[in-house]
Amino acid sequence: MRYISTRGNSPPRSFAEILLSGLAPDGGLYMPETWPQIAAQEIAGFANSPYTAVAHAIVKRFVGDSFSESELRADIDAAYKLFDAPGVVPLQQIAPDQWLLELFHGPTLAFKDIAMQLIGRLSARALAKRGGRATILAATSGDTGSAAIAAFGGLANVEVFVLHPKGRVSDVQRRQMTTSPHANVHNIAVEGTFDDAQAVVKDLFAEIDFVERAGLVAVNSINFARILAQSVYYFVAAAKLGLPPTFVVPTGNFGDVFAGEAAMRMGLQIEKLVVATNENDIVARALHTGLYSRGEVRQTLSPSMDIQVASNFERALFEASARNSAWLGNAMAQFAKTRSLVLPPVVLSNLRARYEAIRVSDEETLQTIADFYKSQRVLIDPHTAVALAASRKREQGGWTAILSTAHPAKFPAAVSKAAGISPPLPPRLADLYERAERVSVLPVDKASIRRFIEDRLG
Ligand SMILES: *Cc1c(COP(=O)(O)O)cnc(C)c1O
Repeated sequence: MRYISTRGNSPPRSFAEILLSGLAPDGGLYMPETWPQIAAQEIAGFANSPYTAVAHAIVKRFVGDSFSESELRADIDAAYKLFDAPGVVPLQQIAPDQWLLELFHGPTLAFKDIAMQLIGRLSARALAKRGGRATILAATSGDTGSAAIAAFGGLANVEVFVLHPKGRVSDVQRRQMTTSPHANVHNIAVEGTFDDAQAVVKDLFAEIDFVERAGLVAVNSINFARILAQSVYYFVAAAKLGLPPTFVVPTGNFGDVFAGEAAMRMGLQIEKLVVATNENDIVARALHTGLYSRGEVRQTLSPSMDIQVASNFERALFEASARNSAWLGNAMAQFAKTRSLVLPPVVLSNLRARYEAIRVSDEETLQTIADFYKSQRVLIDPHTAVALAASRKREQGGWTAILSTAHPAKFPAAVSKAAGISPPLPPRLADLYERAERVSVLPVDKASIRRFIEDRLG
């Protein structure tokens, strides 16, 4: 299996190569050259298989000769041993035809652990084979950073640099990052917004000399390995339900919901993928009107979805245009320049065949947390609440799985505002407030951040 760029102007790469890189050199995102097909009978068998066996069956089809089957099995087993729920991603029935798919039982309490725990291990293995070092560089609004630190902290020949916007992540999120005991973890609180931090990271990934010298690796969802690892739980949930379900997905960067499209393209029957957004609704507007047009980022109660440019939407456009790289390259260049793009009718109708989109306000999010607590005595986090609210606003019914992407204790302020009680931290994080913090404060300035990283790489 080889990987090609959505923009068509980069040489094909192996799985190990795309695992240890970022964007393709032409600015596109890597995609598998073809989608492996998984037969209906094998998928039905997933209903009674352990999560790790399903993960192995899917991931092995994508790695080519980068890893042996036994290497893959070892890393998958080690990654999911750390999850504290039976079956890794339990389905909780909340109505005759509705389930919550709980994805937050990993070390940092958000779904990002599911992919990150696996790619941390695979990256260490690929690095040992290739030699040299890797420098993880990420900007985070909270969840990606803590998941990356939990997965890459303490690995040999790896340094981890995570930029978060100072004062704009929750206390729990910040402490999960800054209390890491590992010397290879470097937290930078930047004096600016998440978008400012993201822009610096993007600029640093464009400095080719620096990228090569530092061995810079992106672990946000532009990394295809993350999408792949996330496609597994769509198979697991659909196989258990036994009927093609609708999945409602709280969406920011479009990575998680695109993992659902990836599963469909491998042969999984899914009725519909519902893109649930907060007030940052660029993708919902694009699907409703055909105009993909960037606005200003608004701070909401679901901060991990406060994004205006949904990087992985490019992957969906690539497929919806029948992999027309020439069109896509021009379209993305135009979008970067003018901040807007009219989707051609055929692309739009292909997207709508698969995706539906619903926008949810902060007020509806709070109301949903409150109602759900009142009726079920269960607390949900604000990202999950966006998806649950979207599901309730839909006209069509049918079997529906709502992705529950974070533990409520990760966002105590929003949860207690809505439900009047504060969710306790699970036992593995009970001492979070006693641990010592380690963080450097820097201006959002590319040169200062590059110097900081270079000083620490030696
Ligand atoms: C990252 C995140 C999302 C959004 O996922 P995308 O792949 O960026 O669309 C939703 N909920 C939580 C809790 C997250 O951390």
